[in-house]
Amino acid sequence: MLRNAHVTKDKKVSGVKMPDTTTPLPPLEARAGDEGDPAGDVIATPRPIPMRHGGKSEGRLHDIIVVGGGAAGLELVTKLGDTLGRRAQARITLVEKSRTHIWKPLLHSIAAGGLRRSQHELNYLAQARWHNFTCRLGALTGIDRERREIRISATIDDEGREVTPPRSFHYDTLVIAVGSVTNDFGTPGAAQYAVPLETPEQASRFNKRMVNACLRANAQPEPVRPGQLHVAIIGAGATGTELAAELHRTVREVVAYGMTRLDPERDVQIILIEAAPRILPALPERMSVATQELLESLNIKVRTNARVSEVRADGVVLADGEFIPSELVVWSAGVKGPEFLRDLGLEVNRINQLVVEPTLKTTWDENIFAIGDCAACPREGFPQGVPPRAQAAHQMASHMVEQINRRLDGAPLKPFTYRDFGSLVSLGRYSTVGNLMGFAIGRSLFIEGYFARMVYRSLYAMHQAALHGHGSALWQFLISNIARRPEPGVKLH
Ligand SMILES: Cc1cc2nc3c(=O)[nH]c(=O)nc-3n(C[C@H](O)[C@H](O)[C@H](O)COP(=O)(O)OP(=O)(O)OC[C@H]3O[C@@H](n4cnc5c(N)ncnc54)[C@H](O)[C@@H]3O)c2cc1C
Repeated sequence: MLRNAHVTKDKKVSGVKMPDTTTPLPPLEARAGDEGDPAGDVIATPRPIPMRHGGKSEGRLHDIIVVGGGAAGLELVTKLGDTLGRRAQARITLVEKSRTHIWKPLLHSIAAGGLRRSQHELNYLAQARWHNFTCRLGALTGIDRERREIRISATIDDEGREVTPPRSFHYDTLVIAVGSVTNDFGTPGAAQYAVPLETPEQASRFNKRMVNACLRANAQPEPVRPGQLHVAIIGAGATGTELAAELHRTVREVVAYGMTRLDPERDVQIILIEAAPRILPALPERMSVATQELLESLNIKVRTNARVSEVRADGVVLADGEFIPSELVVWSAGVKGPEFLRDLGLEVNRINQLVVEPTLKTTWDENIFAIGDCAACPREGFPQGVPPRAQAAHQMASHMVEQINRRLDGAPLKPFTYRDFGSLVSLGRYSTVGNLMGFAIGRSLFIEGYFARMVYRSLYAMHQAALHGHGSALWQFLISNIARRPEPGVKLH
């Protein structure tokens, strides 16, 4: 098998300057079902793409690489591993920069302290072993489309030592599913002082800051300063709104753990700031109205038509010059594709998403697909395309399984159609509101309360079912609702 030595000197790989790899990179490890499987070694010239029937072509299987193991990518590799991988009809590899997966819609609950990260994390190497795919740790840094190779970065441990080296892998089909990042629109101070909620680490960091702020305020000799225990949440989409409601409860629970000098009604203030005329601007107006009423009944301040022009260490400045004191600021006002997508030599839109055809194939390369938040996928009647949402990621992953099977059979690809089943906003233990698409009656239905909460929970159950099977997902759902551990109801450390 040919190795990395074939890559030419100081090669430019899709706009990213790659290191001189004429000196061979460290050899790829021996087979192990995870980090050791030499799937996708670098080859000198692209070989014919193996198909399903007729077995292996040139003695090898079709190499499928999926980059990014989130809501879309992890469901995809799991389904592919359970079918093509198990039947030895293709080699499936996941490339992921993190060690563990967490479903992103849980992040606001982790930030508020209502959920423990460890109870919802899934280890990629374990999932790979259970579902017949290989996991490679590292971040995608470049693509050589001519050779059908991807380049991934080294991984480094907490002491700064290299764990896995930079490597290259060969693909026949590449699916990019790297998600999105927070878009702060270049607002001054946002990157420095506002906490985004796009990774479990950021959610945990915010939670720690919030608990520490309460401990500090309780221990200080002087009274609580204006803004010291205020939380400004910028962006009243579903994430910001859900965080506001959940924080209202968890801050009160944190204070109840012996912080006797604090009075949440007097000292703690949550402010939800939205540039649009109403909160939840992308959702039906009835949901905005019901949600705003509930938030205001909890004494959460809602500021609409309020555009943030600067974030400072002690608060937020609005475009009209008003200053809102707040030492804790969360940014949840919009997403964009990760910056590196611009450098892959593929077509991107103005927010760095990879432009795909209705088949999910990228516009400039027939062997590269994109799914989930990082894909700009057209949708008839909606100029903004398929929305960056968990249900879109789930549907795209299922469609991609079928596309890959069609590709292996040499059959034509089919267009993806997004079906919007509605939207749900969980307001913690206070309520859940939503609209469900009633396809049979041709209009959406407003739902609220217990039924809405059950439907909301079923979204996560669907993701778990895709990763672990229906029986296991049901069992986990029951256990998590029945078993109560002897621990605080909120995270305190
Ligand atoms: C706080 C929060 C709450 C949300 N709540 C809801 C909700 O209630 N309902 C809803 O429908 N949607 C919600 N969303 C949106 C939803 O989570 C996303 O639409 C969905 O996760 C997108 O899936 P994805 O697979 O495209 O990306 P992700 O789930 O983000 O996964 C991307 C993966 O790619 C990996 N990755 C990134 N860069 C690289 C790289 N260079 N190399 C290798 N791997 C890489 C990441 O580590 C990650 O594992 C929420 C999002 C957030 C942040």
